[in-house]
Amino acid sequence: LQVRTAPLRSRSGELHGAVAVLRDVTEMRRLEQVRTEFVANVSHELRTPLTALKGFIETLLDGAVDDRATARRFLEIMRRETDRLVSLISDLLDLSRLESPRLEVRLETLNLSDLVDQSLELFRHRAGTRGVELASELPSPFWVEADESLLRQVLVNLIDNAVKYTPEGGRIWISGSREEGWAEFSVSDTGPGIPRKALDRIFERFYRVDKARSRAMGGTGLGLSIVRHAVERQGGRVWVESQLGEGSTFRVRLHAGPTSEVTRP
Ligand code: ADP
Repeated sequence: LQVRTAPLRSRSGELHGAVAVLRDVTEMRRLEQVRTEFVANVSHELRTPLTALKGFIETLLDGAVDDRATARRFLEIMRRETDRLVSLISDLLDLSRLESPRLEVRLETLNLSDLVDQSLELFRHRAGTRGVELASELPSPFWVEADESLLRQVLVNLIDNAVKYTPEGGRIWISGSREEGWAEFSVSDTGPGIPRKALDRIFERFYRVDKARSRAMGGTGLGLSIVRHAVERQGGRVWVESQLGEGSTFRVRLHAGPTSEVTRP
């Protein structure tokens, strides 16, 4: 609490009262702290791959460049680190776009079933090479009121995580249900699950349950924070349910749009 006081005096200088201004600065302090932490995190995340790149460049210049096999191996690593920087920056830009009040959100009635099929298609190959099954259990059509580009981003990020964290031979499925003006869909997997104490933190920027594992999978730690912003900008809500060692289910609730499925569009 910030307190400012000032005496009130008459013209002759006689004290006859005081003004006190009380301002609750807890929220301001909290926001300031979140901002500082964010900048520190971003700097750290940018510096790590850059430091690695610099190290490899110096070793190459010191002579490693003359050994073709070593040079090639280093260049592969450098490419991976560069890819990481590119995804990080692209996630940061997505996040800032989503946080901007100027972002135009255009809600329309969409068949979620089609968008899910198209999104699953993007991962079919990657999942297939690891024997992970991808399935949609949504009825078609399944109408939702949403912004197409934001909804695609939500689907891609959730499926991407499921594919990233689900071990060989696992299964990922998407199902849906509706009730009283809401349409809900979920992305479930047979991955490692999420510890209870991390359940409401994983939507925070840069929070990861297992940093090394996320990094190894090319994660930026921003995917779920992008998901949460994108869902909330569409007037919806997202949360996760998980059983450690069994899997996770991410649930997204959006406005259902018209309930009569035959009249659309
Ligand atoms: P990342 O780039 O690290 O995947 P996200 O913001 O997408 O960042 O996710 C944050 C963290 O939540 C991940 O690092 C991981 O620990 C956890 N997580 C996300 N999705 C899953 C999932 N399907 N199964 C298990 N853990 C998950």
